[in-house]
Amino acid sequence: MRKKSFISLLLLLALITVPLFAGNFDYATALRYAILFYDANKCGPDAGVDNVFDWRDSCHLNDGADVGLDLTGGFHDAGDHVKFGLPQAYAASVLSWSMYKYKEVFQETGTYQKLLSTLKYFSDYLLKCHPDPETFYYQVGDGGEDHAYWGPPEEQTGYRPTMYVADTSNPASDVLGMTSAALTLMYLNYRDIDPGYSAHCLQAARELYQMGRNNPGYCEVSAYYISSSYYDDLAWAAAWLYIVDGDEQYLEDAERFVLERNRNGDNPLQHRWTMCWDDMYLPEIFKLYQITGKDQYKNALEYNLDYWMNSLETTPGGLKYLDNWGVLRYAMGESMLALVYYRETGNESLREFAKSQLDYVLGDNPANMSYVIGFGNRWSLHPHHRAANGYTYANGDNQKEAKHLLLGALVGGPDRNDNFIDDVNQYQYTEVAIDYNAGLVGVLAGILDDTEPGQDDVIIGDLNGDKITNSLDYVLMRRYLLNTGLNIVQKAADLNGDKIINSLDYVLLRRTLLNAN
Ligand code: ZN
Ligand code: CA
Repeated sequence: MRKKSFISLLLLLALITVPLFAGNFDYATALRYAILFYDANKCGPDAGVDNVFDWRDSCHLNDGADVGLDLTGGFHDAGDHVKFGLPQAYAASVLSWSMYKYKEVFQETGTYQKLLSTLKYFSDYLLKCHPDPETFYYQVGDGGEDHAYWGPPEEQTGYRPTMYVADTSNPASDVLGMTSAALTLMYLNYRDIDPGYSAHCLQAARELYQMGRNNPGYCEVSAYYISSSYYDDLAWAAAWLYIVDGDEQYLEDAERFVLERNRNGDNPLQHRWTMCWDDMYLPEIFKLYQITGKDQYKNALEYNLDYWMNSLETTPGGLKYLDNWGVLRYAMGESMLALVYYRETGNESLREFAKSQLDYVLGDNPANMSYVIGFGNRWSLHPHHRAANGYTYANGDNQKEAKHLLLGALVGGPDRNDNFIDDVNQYQYTEVAIDYNAGLVGVLAGILDDTEPGQDDVIIGDLNGDKITNSLDYVLMRRYLLNTGLNIVQKAADLNGDKIINSLDYVLLRRTLLNAN
């Protein structure tokens, strides 16, 4: 009898504890690892400095010499060593957006300094690629040539040209827009730390945006990262410049560009893809919703999220399945969007959706493994990554277990039946990339964020909360700037969304009222 009660008690405890703790992972550790991954892909003379991986050192010291420039630095793209324009700028822009949005999370998890230095490693390189106001170099290394080499980047020799340049005769509005946004965000993250450096970033961001806007067209890449639209990137750049500079022209541009369709003719307001190196429509629509509060953007976001949550193919194990090449990066991109929108709306189903995808990545899946290397108990031992692998193509040695632990890397992911093929040559499953990890960092920060979601009915400019923006709000704004103790709807007063209420917002409110009358 006594024994039976003891067993019942154990059963009861099991019943209580299992549902409470199942699927709850150590997100802070995963976040730390996901940021450290970037050290593995550092390029240039300082690649071995401030690097958590002792098997990485300086590499590719002649980058840019063929065009008379120092284009060393930046990051290798994935398991290879090319520095591609779009994914590099995408990774910088999404990581920087995460920092801007979730700064407290990074501070509380002890990852702030590392992410900040990683962001600066990106921006140092992007600035080097922009030697004058009308020039931007956006690819170093030839894809075909580079992929024929398997070995550590430190030992790589041979053909490594500066492939493409944007200037007055060669357009690359996609790369220029994405890079501009990355640098404006760097300005926002760095303005209190180093005003001179951040001003340099902002000036470059303005110039790159003008280059992309004045000479519209796709970047010139041949086989890798062919983009499907440059309007999304220009719009993304314009929205961030509007937030910083308050110039109405940027907002007009952003609202015009975001409605332009991609090469496939997709309607941006009924978009089924998600945030990735090629597609910034959704994050841009989110920013425009934040800035303007317009229903068309809210509806477009909800259309996309509803499609993902309720209609998109789902694996038996619960993973949203958009594409078989690097499927997890898309699930993480969409989950980041769900979390940023959750913070606006407080709609718990958005957070649950993001958590379900993240938990799948971290180990709650039929393959019973973590898709983040070094996290949990079981992960890919054969990531498609030359530096971590440590072997060469000779005798098929590169198919052996990787010599080094590629800590924090998100691998491509499973097939549509949740099966994972852990084979270095099956790169659609096992490759890692700087763009993959960017979304992962955003999701981990978003899930750790405990900011109370804002009221979803805030009208920008409606400081007194009476659902109308009128001269009463204008008077209230002026009084508030003289006396910040006044009670106003803070979020409504921050017209440009830069988290500070100041004279810039005052000017914007006046313009809004003049336009309305
Ligand atoms: Zn390198
Ligand atoms: Ca694009």
